[in-house]
Amino acid sequence: MQTNLLIDGQLVAGEGASHAVYNPSIGEVLVNINEASSAQVDAAVQAAQRAFDAWSQTTPKCRAELLLKLAERIEAEAETFARLESQNCGKPYQAALNDEIPAIADVFRFFAGASRCMNGSAGGEYLPGHTSMIRRDPLGVVASIAPWNYPLMMVAWKLAPALAAGNCVVLKPSEQTPLTALKLAGIINDLFPAGVVNILIGKGPSVGEPLVTHPQVRLVSLTGSVATGARIVANTASSVKRTHMELGGKAPVLIFEDADIDAAVEGIRAFGFYNAGQDCTAACRLYVQQGVYEEFVQKLGAAVGSIRYGLQEDPQTELGPLITRDHLERVEGFVERAKALPHIRVITGGKRVPGPGYFFEPTVLADARQDDEIVQREIFGPVVSVTPFSDEAQALSFANDSDYGLASSVWTRDVGRANRLASRLQYGCTWVNTHFMLVSEMPHGGMKQSGYGKDMSMYGLEDYTCVRHVMFKH
Ligand code: NAD
Repeated sequence: MQTNLLIDGQLVAGEGASHAVYNPSIGEVLVNINEASSAQVDAAVQAAQRAFDAWSQTTPKCRAELLLKLAERIEAEAETFARLESQNCGKPYQAALNDEIPAIADVFRFFAGASRCMNGSAGGEYLPGHTSMIRRDPLGVVASIAPWNYPLMMVAWKLAPALAAGNCVVLKPSEQTPLTALKLAGIINDLFPAGVVNILIGKGPSVGEPLVTHPQVRLVSLTGSVATGARIVANTASSVKRTHMELGGKAPVLIFEDADIDAAVEGIRAFGFYNAGQDCTAACRLYVQQGVYEEFVQKLGAAVGSIRYGLQEDPQTELGPLITRDHLERVEGFVERAKALPHIRVITGGKRVPGPGYFFEPTVLADARQDDEIVQREIFGPVVSVTPFSDEAQALSFANDSDYGLASSVWTRDVGRANRLASRLQYGCTWVNTHFMLVSEMPHGGMKQSGYGKDMSMYGLEDYTCVRHVMFKH
């Protein structure tokens, strides 16, 4: 197992504190890894800064070729990557192999092409005797900070656009799930010039903070919780760094009487519980119109009760554990507090699974009220709440009554209603009659406390550039 950091073209052991990395399905340590020391954080940023001059002057074609090779190398070792990811996250091996690895390779391929298509928006004479053009140029050193829920996918979302645009990167994956990023470090070191990509392991306070506050870092890109986002924005304010924030979510799902109820039940069974609900877009806050409410709740309870949880190598497993014991206890706390409310009905699940792994039963809590904690706060586990609504106006007002603004969905056969709601939902994405589907060409990102900045798409590439004006006097 590759456990060295990547700094300036060298794979080196961390010189900071040692941390255990777990397999959450069985609650056992997989490996102990030393995090970066503060001198290594500084060395990584300095290396990226030195590499920037040459890397930023490479042609888009040259950068695209390297990104395409990286995609090929990931696919060539798909099984090893998927196995490491599933062991470190507890997620089903088949899902890691068949859902995540192809999507990860596609992100690198998309940005390989995108780098060759990026353009400025104007070229012309806007003042007599002068020609202006608009350029999009790279920023310099980007500090990228990733979460634990889709470790290698988040590395792809962070690295691909930053490199495609001509930046150099110091990446810090989550200290809980560093294994696939460290394996990728070996491949990156074969392909890319020294210093263009540096990968550091470590916790937020000891490695994340010195990295994001380093004076030579020009942009901090985070996917993580709202609390971490707020902290990074505060910590980087005095040096006026750019920030790119992809934060938490609490997706509302509006299910109308005219919807295909069976399709909605199947959709929530899949999109509310994928990755054990540890997904910022998870379909977790359900609002169901009164006329179909009880039918929907009963059907959803039966469907969710049939989700099979288990070990990652079992091909029957649909749902893995939560990432850590702390997170299991956090999810359990939300559910126990909800269960203590007299109006909450537990339709299925509701308890942790006994054993050494960090499993929680797939859970449906019905009759939740709009101001219940279970409706307002991100749980990030296999738990959905269901709340009845009377009409379209109430559904919209419930949906938008949230600090989050990442993803939403509307389930209806009425095209007019779908359009009306899609135009008024304050979320970075609205799906109609589906949920959760992402593609590399389309932007992913939030509003309100879910953050700002886009991942994927041409907008994602633009976020890693600066708009510049160049003017020529004739
Ligand atoms: P987290 O905020 O605890 O950690 C995210 C990363 O930030 C980790 O690498 C962590 O070490 C680092 N970090 C923590 N404190 C830091 C600091 N002070 N300075 C610099 N870095 C610091 O989040 P998590 O628990 O790993 O991930 C779950 C969260 O991520 C959820 O809230 C989820 O909604 C969100 N998420 C959002 C998206 C999206 O696209 N919007 C995608 C996936 C996950």
